Amino acid sequence: MSDFLVKDGVKNLQKPGEKLITTHCCYCGMQCGMHIRVNEKTNKVVGVEPRYDWPVTLGKMCPKGVTAYQTVNHKDRILKPLIKKNGKFVESSWKEAYDLIEKNFKKLQKDHGKDAVSVFGGVSMTNEKCYLVGKYARVGLGTRFLDYNGRFCMSSAAGGFMKTLGVDRGSSLPLPEFEHTDCLFMAGSNTAECHPTMIQWLWKAKDKGAKLIVADPRETPTARVADVHLDLKPGTDSALANGLMHLIIKNNQVDKEFVQTRCNNYEELEAMVEKFTPAYTSEITGVSIEKIIKAASIYGESPRSIVTFCRGIEQQNKGVDNVSLYTSMALLRGQVGKFASGIATITGQGNGQGGREHGQKADALPGYRKIDNPDHVKYIAGVWGIQPEEMPKAGVSAYEMFDEIHKGNIRAMHVMCSNPAVSAPNLEYIWSGFKKLDFLVVSDFFLSETAEFADVVLPTTTWAEDEGTTTNLEGRVIRVRKVTEPIGESKTDWEIMCDIAARMGKGSYFQYENPRQIFEELRIASKGGKADYHGITWERIDKEDGVFWPCPSEDHPGTPTMFKEKFGTEDGKANLAAVDWAELVKHQQKNFRSS
Ligand code: SF4
Repeated sequence: MSDFLVKDGVKNLQKPGEKLITTHCCYCGMQCGMHIRVNEKTNKVVGVEPRYDWPVTLGKMCPKGVTAYQTVNHKDRILKPLIKKNGKFVESSWKEAYDLIEKNFKKLQKDHGKDAVSVFGGVSMTNEKCYLVGKYARVGLGTRFLDYNGRFCMSSAAGGFMKTLGVDRGSSLPLPEFEHTDCLFMAGSNTAECHPTMIQWLWKAKDKGAKLIVADPRETPTARVADVHLDLKPGTDSALANGLMHLIIKNNQVDKEFVQTRCNNYEELEAMVEKFTPAYTSEITGVSIEKIIKAASIYGESPRSIVTFCRGIEQQNKGVDNVSLYTSMALLRGQVGKFASGIATITGQGNGQGGREHGQKADALPGYRKIDNPDHVKYIAGVWGIQPEEMPKAGVSAYEMFDEIHKGNIRAMHVMCSNPAVSAPNLEYIWSGFKKLDFLVVSDFFLSETAEFADVVLPTTTWAEDEGTTTNLEGRVIRVRKVTEPIGESKTDWEIMCDIAARMGKGSYFQYENPRQIFEELRIASKGGKADYHGITWERIDKEDGVFWPCPSEDHPGTPTMFKEKFGTEDGKANLAAVDWAELVKHQQKNFRSS
């Protein structure tokens, strides 16, 4: 397999003495296509070159992506394991660090039970690593306490999609189809600044006459170019969505056949939105009646439309309601499962999509299987070579793990590829939790704020020093390549998990020589699940510009457009949401900042 992928006729700037290696940016869910420039003599990473023939981003990259390579040889990289002695970190050998981890994990589990040790993962790792985090926690350490940083990110979108559509895939359609839509409805998303390489699809659509509606309390650069800016008060999205659906029904713009044959709960929704007249909606949201009527009219009349949203509507205490209602708006119009129509949440973290599919969550097993389903447990136990009774039960969410620390139930934690000391809510509670732990291990490539609390810091590799797959915001599984050897003594996260599992006496379950072997196991583990990767191979990813899940077999084309025939619910029908608007809880209003 070639390390440099380029289509005929595409010219890349390639300097003498340098080679290009094809990969993707590590930072956000766009996963922009890029080539990394490597000096052939020194093997040093020296820059990036956009991948003009990558169909999702067409050579566009933002300043973060252009400078991502600078993390690889950064002077602040941790090059050796660190052990805290008398309050200060001192460099150690891997043996010394592993000895200490083994001694503490074993002692704490002997004294307080298996669940005394916990794992906190992250979704900036490859699918292979995220998959292994779940197995490492449950088989390697035998603990039920496992969760990840996606809880602080877009869990509401996942919850809303599961309720309405029965499957949590970020986008129901491929991004290049955005160009052909007639209307884009964006809620709580400043796409122009937060996902800048996506905005090209909006411009292309606008050039063809598409309309843009933006729902955002702020006049962001995205809102400034909208045909209608719905400048709602923070926390009133559910009222706005109900108000728009009220008008879609009154204007007779419901796709009746779609709703009758493919959706549940229409009568409940109709009854709920009855009171959301433009005047009532305006009173709650602060948006003028004229704008509400204009937006509903544009959206309701568009033959093709796409609803997108982002953390702005998701990171509220009514986030699941907001997602369910905006999704229901698209369903009312029958705009799901069709060309250039659909719903998308724009993923934040690099592998936010793939990282939540394969068992890194407290209640989930690979392929979006559920840990409280005995059949699912039996299947995964079979793949892992353990008895179903050995599978730990469901744990608790990321924030609730800190409750368990404060209660004294969790005594040790291994944090991987995450910095909850900065990114979690209620930080003083998180910091005091870290201080209360008997033993904290952090795997990272910089001495992060979380690592400062650690007893042992393990130096890991960056994305450019390992290979594997990620899944972008569309649900397209793609490949990242190893560009250079690990810096200093750093190891990959998957090697570290295998090493610690071996120290805990579980090495026979972690006999991997490379990420590809982990991916082959992931394919089997996800087989038959909602996020089915069974038919996806690394060769297909290269040949087909990525493969969309679900893809149950190697002769299956993958699924760029979701829900063409049925939804992921038990009865195959989407569940329309009938949800009233409710005030935000007081502390959220108090802490809202408009800057
Ligand atoms: S938009 Fe996201 S994936 Fe693309 S270059 Fe910027 S940070 Fe990287």
